[in-house]
Amino acid sequence: MNIIVTTTDHIENRCITGYIGILRSSAVVGTEIALADIFADSSRKYRRKLDDIYSKALQDIRLKALAAGADAVVGLHTEFQEIFGKGKTRFLVSVLGTAVRLDRPKAEQDGCKNVTLYDLRRNQLLVGLGRKLSNPQFNPSSDDWDDINRYALVDLAPQLYRRYLKLASETIGSTSVAEKKLLLENFIPFLQSMDYDAACEAVYGDIETSPYVFCDVVKSCDLFHPEKIAQMLHPENKHTVIALLDSDKASYTSRDLVYMDAIAAFLDNLPDTGRYIEGREGLFSKTGTLLVCERGHTSAVELGGHCTGLVEGSGAICNLNVKGITEQEVAAICKFKEKVEILRGLIDNEM
Ligand SMILES: [Zn+2]
Repeated sequence: MNIIVTTTDHIENRCITGYIGILRSSAVVGTEIALADIFADSSRKYRRKLDDIYSKALQDIRLKALAAGADAVVGLHTEFQEIFGKGKTRFLVSVLGTAVRLDRPKAEQDGCKNVTLYDLRRNQLLVGLGRKLSNPQFNPSSDDWDDINRYALVDLAPQLYRRYLKLASETIGSTSVAEKKLLLENFIPFLQSMDYDAACEAVYGDIETSPYVFCDVVKSCDLFHPEKIAQMLHPENKHTVIALLDSDKASYTSRDLVYMDAIAAFLDNLPDTGRYIEGREGLFSKTGTLLVCERGHTSAVELGGHCTGLVEGSGAICNLNVKGITEQEVAAICKFKEKVEILRGLIDNEM
């Protein structure tokens, strides 16, 4: 029974939040000697008896306080009375105090963590949906998407992204059209609602499954991440890197500029994939510089020009230059460098 009983009007480090009322408890003990003698310690026996009675009265007031829903009894007052009658002396011990309610102890407020029903539900959903998503055949239902959005289940973003990559890049899939539609419709708005860093963590985790879908997600969610792109700078990734150049992020820092300069430098120094030769394009043409592109086409071009050969199968113009990039890609790089310079001007002005 954790009822505090004190003679003071307040309790150290606690606040009284309500007064319940005055409680009283009495006990009577019969004796043959005077109260004055007991207090003069002339009778240890009766003194002890009186102590017992006092303890019982205190215990009783604690029980009453507990029954009244109190946390403490303050302003405790004790009275001893002699009652005479029928040739006998009796003592009446009364304890009197005010039952009060207290705020929670400080240690409990700080130490005992409070878990809301929202937190509990959110974590139940994370565990449940996380388990379901580990099955590659499972796709979130419309109720699942309601939960994902309502409880902001951002921890599931990497798993949902892998699912999105698979469905967005497949032409004929095993997934039902309705499930696919749900995922395609819900995933991008979900990612857009997320914190930039958390969204980038999820998306840049897989750039290989479908570079096309990856670039599309980065663009539609403004997830341009110069540092993460700088980590991808390998000639094999050049088309992906270039495709990301016209994506953006909500704000830029001088730190971003460092990585953007590195990206521009990488693109300026791409290794040749084709070569130039001296020769004639056709029987009747003049001898000049010819580009042999990485696909093996030979075309007469200016230095830095793009292949005019036709791609086998598609019939499209090859368009690759000696570095293996198209005219559109060269234009995208120019535009990117321009963006870097504008940003540099803005950032330098800020400083
Ligand atoms: Zn070519």
